[in-house]
Amino acid sequence: MRVPFVHKAPLLFIAIGLIVVSTVALSFVSYYYTVGRENLAETSLVQSNIKLASQSLDRIEKKIEDNDRILSEMIDVDEPSKWPEMVDAIKKADLNVDQVYFLRPGSDWPLYPPYSYEIRNQWGAFRASFKMKEIDIGRLALNQLHHLHMERPKNYFFATYVLKETRNGSRILVCFQMNFDKIMALVDSRLRDLQDRFYVSVVDFEGNGVYGQPISRSSKYFFETRFPNTLYKWILQIVPRNYTELELGVRNQRRTNLFFIITSMSLIFISLAIIFITGQRDRQLRKLKEDFISNVSHELKTPLSLIRMFSEMLVMGRVKDGDKKLEYYRVIHSESDRMSRLIANLLDFANLGRGIEYRHFEKTNIAHIVNEALEAYRHEIQKDGFQLNLEVDPDIPDSYADPNAITMAFLNLLDNSVKYSDDRKWIDVRIQRNNGFVDLSVTDRGVGIPESEQQKIFDKFYRGSDPSVRRIRGSGIGLAITKHVAEIHGGAILVKSEPGKGSTFTLKIPIRDTENNSKFEIRDSKS
Ligand code: ADP
Repeated sequence: MRVPFVHKAPLLFIAIGLIVVSTVALSFVSYYYTVGRENLAETSLVQSNIKLASQSLDRIEKKIEDNDRILSEMIDVDEPSKWPEMVDAIKKADLNVDQVYFLRPGSDWPLYPPYSYEIRNQWGAFRASFKMKEIDIGRLALNQLHHLHMERPKNYFFATYVLKETRNGSRILVCFQMNFDKIMALVDSRLRDLQDRFYVSVVDFEGNGVYGQPISRSSKYFFETRFPNTLYKWILQIVPRNYTELELGVRNQRRTNLFFIITSMSLIFISLAIIFITGQRDRQLRKLKEDFISNVSHELKTPLSLIRMFSEMLVMGRVKDGDKKLEYYRVIHSESDRMSRLIANLLDFANLGRGIEYRHFEKTNIAHIVNEALEAYRHEIQKDGFQLNLEVDPDIPDSYADPNAITMAFLNLLDNSVKYSDDRKWIDVRIQRNNGFVDLSVTDRGVGIPESEQQKIFDKFYRGSDPSVRRIRGSGIGLAITKHVAEIHGGAILVKSEPGKGSTFTLKIPIRDTENNSKFEIRDSKS
């Protein structure tokens, strides 16, 4: 069924444009959708890493704070005599404490342990980190636990301190100096579980590794967080052990998605291009066919009106002069001959289109049939003012060919030379033996053919684009038939032409004595 408006070119352009726009839009949307989904998956993975790290951190903090509460409860500032006993109990319990100091706010000397020669080094080291002056005692709430965490030069000194008040109202600062190794053991016990799936590290602010090797921050799955209250000079870092695979997986997934999107877009564009080109060809062919019908009708009409006119004059007895009569009979004969050649061409062409071949191959001497055909038309051609030369090699052998088809092909070439010559009316027909072929060439000094059209002229319905050519009668099927004739003989048709100088068409027919023994192949239809 033919939907009338679908054949209009602008509509086709609009439809193709719409498909292109919607394909591009669809591709963008699907690309952003998949990227969005990947990002979401990535984000949720990062979130779960953050959650795990924060949970581990909380567990460490909680353990230290629980420890601190126990320590605070084990101290009774009202019983100085029991302090040594209390301190011993604390050191023995698994509470990570190295030493307990009882200090009077503002004083440079400890209440307990009393300053002595034995503890002078220990006390000196403690005082170097825990500077009473730097602690704003006035703002410390009673019985509230505080922490002091120092940098690497102070060996990450870590202490918990609490301000307490005795019954008689004097204030004592109790300070628990923690053991570094025990704190590290605590950190390790809480982080070990993570190590199966993560690289885990604790670093200080300068990036020095305290626990494990510092981790590079380059991965997007890397996460780090500070200890908020207790070990506040340290940072916990984690990254999944398989982060390179995860990143590679995401990258590959993205590439695969992109590949599919680009491939399907390209396929759609290629299909559109094919549809467009086919449509264009269809339109061109339709135009060529329409031109063909009008050309053929015109070609038939002209000889027919001549025949009618001259035959009428003869039938009515208006022509008395014998020579004139003869002249009119000749015109009727040549015009009817032109018509029958055109009709033969048309029938041949119609058969060609339907894939039907009526060919009769036999031993044929091409020189002989060309000579015969030329003799039949020589008079007519010369009468039009042409100089017609025939040159035949002496040893042209017989060939296995269809004489009618060869004659038709030759007459097409000859007819074209006559049609497309303007003032320089000169035609040269040559028959040569050439490397296993009989070369039949027809040369004229006519309008010539531009290089760009020298291949197209062999297409069916194609007529030269030059207006001077368009003015000449023609149907655009002569050379298509001639080419076909060359091909069914296993030969070829070649053209050599220069606009304004003339053309030479050469029909190459292989020399053979049966259907199958052609020894040569022609690859190109243009020399
Ligand atoms: P037609 O001559 O009916 O147009 P043909 O198939 O015989 O169709 O030729 C196709 C086209 O080739 C012609 O329209 C013309 O442009 C070009 N052509 C053929 N023979 C010649 C020639 N001898 N000189 C110049 N142009 C030619």
